[in-house]
Amino acid sequence: MLKSILLILVSLFCAFPLCAQTEPEKSPVIDTSPKPESHDAGTKAARPRPPPPVDTSSPAKSSGDEPAKADDKNAPPLDPSNMDTSVKPQDDFFLYSNGGWIKRTEIPPEYSRWGSFNQLIEQNNDALHEIAEKASKTPADPKTAPEVQKVGDYYGSGMDEKTIETLRAKPLQDEFDRIGTMKDRNDVLKEVAHLHTIGVNAFFNFGSGQDDKDSTREIAQAVQGGLGMPDRDYYTKTDDASKKLRDQYVEHVTKMLTLLGEPADAAAEHAKKILAFETSLAQASRTRVELRDPQKNYNKMKQDEVQKLTPDWHWANYFKEIKLSAPGDINVHQPDFFKAANTLFSSTPMEDWKTYLRWHLINATASELSNDFVNENFNFNETTLRGTQQIKPRWKRVVISTDGALGEALGKLYVADYFPPEAKARALEMINNLKSALSDRIKTLEWMDEATKAQALKKLAAFQVKIGYPDKWRDYSLLKIDRGPFVLNAIRAENFEANRDLKKIGKPVDRTEWGMTPPTVNAYYNPKMNEIVFPAGILQPPFFFANADDAINYGAIGAVIGHEMTHGFDDQGRQYDAVGNLTDWWSPESAKKFTERSKAIVQQYNEYEPLPGLHVNGELTQGENIADLGGLKIAYAALQKALAGKPREKIDGLTPEQRFFLAFAQIWRSKQRDEDLKLRLNTDPHSPVRYRVDGPLSNLSEFAKAFDLPDSCPMVRAADKRVNIW
Ligand SMILES: [Zn+2]
Repeated sequence: MLKSILLILVSLFCAFPLCAQTEPEKSPVIDTSPKPESHDAGTKAARPRPPPPVDTSSPAKSSGDEPAKADDKNAPPLDPSNMDTSVKPQDDFFLYSNGGWIKRTEIPPEYSRWGSFNQLIEQNNDALHEIAEKASKTPADPKTAPEVQKVGDYYGSGMDEKTIETLRAKPLQDEFDRIGTMKDRNDVLKEVAHLHTIGVNAFFNFGSGQDDKDSTREIAQAVQGGLGMPDRDYYTKTDDASKKLRDQYVEHVTKMLTLLGEPADAAAEHAKKILAFETSLAQASRTRVELRDPQKNYNKMKQDEVQKLTPDWHWANYFKEIKLSAPGDINVHQPDFFKAANTLFSSTPMEDWKTYLRWHLINATASELSNDFVNENFNFNETTLRGTQQIKPRWKRVVISTDGALGEALGKLYVADYFPPEAKARALEMINNLKSALSDRIKTLEWMDEATKAQALKKLAAFQVKIGYPDKWRDYSLLKIDRGPFVLNAIRAENFEANRDLKKIGKPVDRTEWGMTPPTVNAYYNPKMNEIVFPAGILQPPFFFANADDAINYGAIGAVIGHEMTHGFDDQGRQYDAVGNLTDWWSPESAKKFTERSKAIVQQYNEYEPLPGLHVNGELTQGENIADLGGLKIAYAALQKALAGKPREKIDGLTPEQRFFLAFAQIWRSKQRDEDLKLRLNTDPHSPVRYRVDGPLSNLSEFAKAFDLPDSCPMVRAADKRVNIW
């Protein structure tokens, strides 16, 4: 579980295409809703649910010879066997660089996609596994070794399959009783509020977040939400595949309710009503493209104004239940959603409210219950939605859950063993070189006027940089963790996080907080903090090699750093200033030229068609595509600086520039199931990996020169179509 936190992070990749469902990877905080910035930004973020805790002996299909392991821990930084030299670099550089790996690799059955990221995640999971196992076997004094006690007991309770199987959903009985005994709409509101404090984001989302226009303050945020499928489009699209998916969703909800003891007929009726209720919420929800506009999602109100939006419920009662005595300013991200929710609030019969809330409670906790719940949850959220064939082993699911619930306790133990100080020093040096390259680039931009350049440089100079792990660790002392039941540990962790989040409302912003845990294989830019963040988890091969030459590291982690920096200047990030305020620092002329250039990138990606009839959404992905292109360019410029004055040696017959581009392309090696690809085309602000390689490269004359490519070929866009922004 773990869903609180209202953050706006623009990350390197989206482990979870948003939504509250599962994907067996770690991931950035992702919100179900609004996000002021690039993708996961700002708001009530539903933290991805950890994968279901259960072992099934499900259809264990053999996965070929590629186990779900980091198969190339000791592989050379550039592995020639990953390439396919029968493909010409000018035709498709992604395949040229990765075709060998693609041919010999099968996606392991427990994955919906598989690539370098996943391999590193697996390697980190092994490390976390060892730490958690050891902690669970070491009796620890919560006073002297609080992290070991909490991690050990949390993990131990998740591994106690016997108790979990015996108890089934019984530990939730008090929660179900609360729902079952609701008498009127006021009870409904109170119950919604209560569920929000235990990580169940029913009906709408509520939490704290930085005030977009005064980034020093934390204020309350009310955000659209309340759906059980990954996106509002799943409810509103009218094509056959979407209709079929809705039928499958109704079947899934029916099965889950049946597992709670409802007769099949009644459960089927209830499931239909749940779909109808959620469809009403979906119809009133903004699309993902609309959510990219931070101005539109900024509607700051006082309590009495919010009250006018929803005359049928009393916010005062809601606030009382979540113990928020002085809500102060409230940013209502989508006022129309709340107007529609108000109608639904009073028109929905009490019995239907009970059904809907029961569903969201079980949906949010299924992965911590017995195997029957876990498997059904997996069947829909993983197999149906993403094509994943086999559930992960219990230990792995519990490790991921521990990272979600106690990320900074587990992370503290992790970095002590696995994060060498040299990695931090080298990363910092590269970041400084990239900052300097971006600064040079801004100064010479042909399309930006001097006044705007001065502001852009000010913003760049103000970037806060976080590397590895937080300077100040989260204090979990008020969170009680014991040997079980597992689901109650998970709920207490949610409650701890929700309270921590709500207590921030009205307070100054804490700029030392992190939005990802230390072992996470990802990175992010947060526009409201104007910060770039690189967790320890990603500062390892194949992104970062302590002993490799500069060309490799600049092509891999350098491009990642440049990507995050460029987010400060993408279509959303550029709307925030040096201190993280949503304010327009652009001259009208420069803004116009930026928009023209970003339209060109929207068009470029709109043309890509990864599956027959399904195109990349150029609008939704533009921030990431701008960051991919800009990041690569800046990393290249930084490499040139690093190489200045040094002998330019070929290694294995490759120039530094060729090695740089190959290292870049190889970090994106990945395979994906069609179901997962479809889901991500709908929801993920990142383009499919192939276009994350070929898209930016085909715009770069530096790339064409490095491989001596002819003017007209698929990997070199025509001069008048080439996109050049940062
Ligand atoms: Zn990104």
